[in-house]
Amino acid sequence: MINSIKPIAIIGAGISGLATGITLARQGIDSIIFERDEALSKNGSGMTVSKNALVLLERLGVLDQLQKESFRTDKIIIKSGKNKITELNPDILYTTRQKITEILAEHYFKSGGQILFSHNLVNFNNDKKELLFDNDSKYLVSHVLACDGINSKLREKYFASNEKAIFSGFNAWRGITKEMKIDSAEMHYGPNAHLVTYPINNALDRCFIGIVKSKNNLEESWMRKGSADEVLNDFKSFDDSVFPIFKNSKDLFKWGIYIRPPLKKLFVENITLLGDAAHPMVPFLGQGGCMAIEDGFTFGMLLKNLKLDFFKAQNLYNLIRIKRVRIIQKLSMQIAKVNHLSNPLLTNSRNIIMKYSKIPQLTQKKLHSYDAEESIKKAIQ
Ligand SMILES: Cc1cc2nc3c(=O)[nH]c(=O)nc-3n(C[C@H](O)[C@H](O)[C@H](O)COP(=O)(O)OP(=O)(O)OC[C@H]3O[C@@H](n4cnc5c(N)ncnc54)[C@H](O)[C@@H]3O)c2cc1C
Repeated sequence: MINSIKPIAIIGAGISGLATGITLARQGIDSIIFERDEALSKNGSGMTVSKNALVLLERLGVLDQLQKESFRTDKIIIKSGKNKITELNPDILYTTRQKITEILAEHYFKSGGQILFSHNLVNFNNDKKELLFDNDSKYLVSHVLACDGINSKLREKYFASNEKAIFSGFNAWRGITKEMKIDSAEMHYGPNAHLVTYPINNALDRCFIGIVKSKNNLEESWMRKGSADEVLNDFKSFDDSVFPIFKNSKDLFKWGIYIRPPLKKLFVENITLLGDAAHPMVPFLGQGGCMAIEDGFTFGMLLKNLKLDFFKAQNLYNLIRIKRVRIIQKLSMQIAKVNHLSNPLLTNSRNIIMKYSKIPQLTQKKLHSYDAEESIKKAIQ
């Protein structure tokens, strides 16, 4: 049986799908989210949210609750080996992907939104405007917003056939512990690796995200388990003061980070890409999820401001977003090199620049002071 539904289908209930859904719902625009899994993602990896996304979450009415259930500080301590190099002061909310997804979904439902779980998209026939799911249900829709992540089926079918996600050269570690109550956010540099640790809520449960340069490409999966011996081996050149977080974390996960080449255009006919489906990136600036929020907000507000003229909204969305995400994708890769220096002379120079120059603060300020609403206003003038 073919179901005829609301005109806008969002594929994926991750950060980009939910941010898009809320923005549309708050503007009185009907949409529906189709999610492959039977429930929202339960994986509790730490996640930072910077000012550029926080201002949007505030406008979407989500920030108050998120802030209550997260940790916010404007101080991060940067260390290299045993030594503290400096402190940076970006206003950051520290939380988890699970928490932000859960709160976005709660607000989406409150705004009248609907998610159809256990709907794994297997095909979209653009001639018939028909979505086909693996439970054999079919839906007729007018527009599709692809928020289905790095392995987006819609991207592979309509934007870049034959394209495969490429191993970035980095593997990631993550873990969370309730055993270490420390109220600071810290970044540790080491040779060919770096480590970020921070509280994820006001109870000071603490997470770590570690990134290791590697030739060994692991699969892309947030659920791939790792062991304490393996993480200690990967970070063996680090000062041993960082080891307790590995030993105390309840579960340890290790997986590969993948990227895709940038696209020239983020829409084709009536399909638009958002979030990681549009522009996966290495996580050295902590901006992938923030970009997903900026994408959803920008697309939703453009649609509203352009009175549901999809073609115009897609064009302006493309114009605004492609420039912004390219800068962030490139910079994330460059920061990877800086964070993972192994040559002692270069390491020393980096530490001196971090300590005495204003470059790190100014770069962060520039990225974080971006306001998607201003870009929308300029674009539709
Ligand atoms: C180690 C690491 C650390 C990171 N740290 C940060 C950070 O601190 N700050 C930050 O902003 N970002 C961070 N990121 C990036 C961030 O996690 C992602 O950019 C963000 O989660 C992307 O959201 P998304 O909704 O676009 O995609 P996803 O989160 O991948 O969501 C896609 C959704 O689509 C669903 N889906 C997929 N295929 C189908 C289908 N065929 N049919 C139906 N549904 C489907 C999936 O089940 C999923 O729910 C980090 C990433 C990594 C790897």
